[in-house]
Amino acid sequence: MNSPAGGSPWRIYRRLLGLVRPYRWALLLALLGLLVEGAAAGAFGVLTKPMVDETFVARNREFGVLLPLAIVGIFVVRGGAGYLSDYFMARAARGVARDMRVRALDKYLRLPGLRFDAEPVPSMLVRLGSDSDQVAQAVVDAGKVMLQQSLQVVAMLAVMLYASWRVTLAVLLLGPLIAWLMDRVGRRYRRYGHKVQETAAQMMQAADQALSNQQEVKVYGARSAELARYTRLADDTLRLSLKVEATRSISSAIVQLTGAVGLALLLFFASREALAGRLTAGGFVQLMIAMLAIIPALKQLTNVQGMLHRGVASAERLFQVLDADDEVDTGQRPLPRAHGLIEFRDVSLRYPGQEKPALTGISFTARPGTVTAIVGRSGSGKSSLVKLIPRFYDPDAGQILLDGHPLSDYRLADLRRQVAMVGQQVMLFDGTVLENVAYGELQPATRAEVNRALEAANAMEFVSQLPEGEDSHIGIKGGRLSGGQRQRLAIARAMLKDAPILILDEATAALDNASERLVQDALAHLIPDRTTLVIAHRLSTVEHADQILVLDDGRLVEQGTHAELLARGGVYAHLHAMQFREASA
Ligand code: ADP
Ligand code: MG
Repeated sequence: MNSPAGGSPWRIYRRLLGLVRPYRWALLLALLGLLVEGAAAGAFGVLTKPMVDETFVARNREFGVLLPLAIVGIFVVRGGAGYLSDYFMARAARGVARDMRVRALDKYLRLPGLRFDAEPVPSMLVRLGSDSDQVAQAVVDAGKVMLQQSLQVVAMLAVMLYASWRVTLAVLLLGPLIAWLMDRVGRRYRRYGHKVQETAAQMMQAADQALSNQQEVKVYGARSAELARYTRLADDTLRLSLKVEATRSISSAIVQLTGAVGLALLLFFASREALAGRLTAGGFVQLMIAMLAIIPALKQLTNVQGMLHRGVASAERLFQVLDADDEVDTGQRPLPRAHGLIEFRDVSLRYPGQEKPALTGISFTARPGTVTAIVGRSGSGKSSLVKLIPRFYDPDAGQILLDGHPLSDYRLADLRRQVAMVGQQVMLFDGTVLENVAYGELQPATRAEVNRALEAANAMEFVSQLPEGEDSHIGIKGGRLSGGQRQRLAIARAMLKDAPILILDEATAALDNASERLVQDALAHLIPDRTTLVIAHRLSTVEHADQILVLDDGRLVEQGTHAELLARGGVYAHLHAMQFREASA
């Protein structure tokens, strides 16, 4: 394997064992349980000989009572030991799965913005979900099965050797054949187990796409297309799982067949030993019962291979996430509260895999207490420009300064605390109005503060109409609110954050005129004393800005006030004329 996660399956496996270390006491207890279980199985095997020879052949009265008691005793001990091993194994396995998913989510939230362009969220969900479980299965459950069944095999082999070493050795000649068959089966598992996980992730992606955009799917009549895409993937998964299942079945058939051949051999050699007077009826029963107990153990040992390979594949994917580099955060300069002087110096940005740069040679200054409007056609780079300020992306060339120092001099958390953002799509989660407005606050905000923010954002007007006021639940992603209402909650959130830099990226583009006016009015409360960058689709909303930056194809083509730019008769004047014509049409 030549994955970036590094190295051979064995190295991955060693690293996985490291995950188990916090659970070593649980595992030790489980191991104790397994050993007792194995010993109990062995003890039962030993008892089978006197069961036949003493009870039926010699008709020993005493054994007729002692043996049944001993059998019950052995199984009581075995049951207790089984509980011990099951419980503590589960504790370790579930613990490892939990640790993996918590660490993966923590890591995802530290990864740079670029990562989210490259890996779709559903695939991240697979990492947190089934991949984490598979890893736990591989390290703990597979380990348990291997140990338990190997102990079973060893105990039963010991019983067989004790009964008759000659017969046992003769039957053991089958060993190499079994080993060879198991290896073949293992190979097949490896081939298909890998693919099953991959198609499962793709399937989840397709379903997520169709379900989260159900309205578009319906309106554009894309239902059959989406269904066809999903069906194709589901068929692939089905085909692969059938192959895995077939492998499992073939492997157990093979194991059964070898068992039958083994039994035939056993009978063949045992009859010769019996003729030679070296094997009693009880000895034969003992041999047979021990060998029959080995067969299911061998079967489980072959099945465990699939579990192991799936787990190693999942671990590889998880380690790739855990090993990815965090956002670069090396700044040290303290920044309690910025003044908000922002300076772009010849800044360029190109997204990986894109031929054209999104921004080229952008230079401007935005002073505290002023409004800088950014206009331009869609795709001209407006959003890319403002995303550089909280460092969602870093520029390829040039410098961005805040209060005279490069952004990278500050700690990321400090820098981002200075920025409040209201975008076109508002991030709301399933909670109350109160929780949504006070989202992420370091100190819990008081109700009075939240109410003040709601007032100022013109949101109180609709919040007070909700059944439980600011304690009302707003539905997943704020689904119970209208676009304008969601926007105003976002503004209230920005108000409460009270950051020195305010970024509005088409915050009102999706709204009708009446809600836009409400939102504009709310924004007017936010703007004084801050550095505001506003991207607006409708030029009427930027006329009063202190400066207007006109972007075209990632370049800053014009810069000035509304009046200056109109007088210039360039791109801005052209855009303006176009919108004016639309508005009066
Ligand atoms: P605007 O906000 O002015 O509509 P954007 O800044 O969103 O424009 O986009 C500018 C250019 O960068 C577009 O060509 C767009 O396709 C590209 N772009 C934006 N975001 C990404 C991204 N995450 N990955 C790759 N290309 C992107
Ligand atoms: Mg945009």
